[in-house]
Amino acid sequence: MSTPIFCPKCGYKRTESDTAPIGECAKCGIIFAKYRPRPTTHSVQGSGPAQSKQGQTKVGTTLVFGLLIAGLAYILVSAARQLPTPEDRLRSIHYQVATDALNQYGMVARSGTPIDICVHAGLVAAAYLQANDEEKYRQWKTTENIDCTRANVPR
Ligand SMILES: [Zn+2]
Repeated sequence: MSTPIFCPKCGYKRTESDTAPIGECAKCGIIFAKYRPRPTTHSVQGSGPAQSKQGQTKVGTTLVFGLLIAGLAYILVSAARQLPTPEDRLRSIHYQVATDALNQYGMVARSGTPIDICVHAGLVAAAYLQANDEEKYRQWKTTENIDCTRANVPR
């Protein structure tokens, strides 16, 4: 007794007396090997994943946009933080003046007269006073006193 063959399309059970070739349905004539499930169920099943895929794409796009906006906001915030305030700018200008005075003092200390050295030490001290750097101001006031004593300039 052979295994009964059922047609996958119409469900017909093949009998011994059927003359149709093996692999073909004697009732509806389909070839089993070529038979594919009905396309309607296929398309319904197909549209499901397609829709959810579209949904995923939407979620993905939203996520990318969200990250983009977050990144942009981060850049803006950090840029705003790094932007110098007017106080910062004034401070850096004062420090620039102090640095210039310091360089000039170095030049004068190498090749200037004792009076020049005394004067420029005073300029450096004044620059640090403008920059509100009390520690440096005090240091340079001391230097100025020493330099000016050496130059016999009364302070
Ligand atoms: Zn059939």
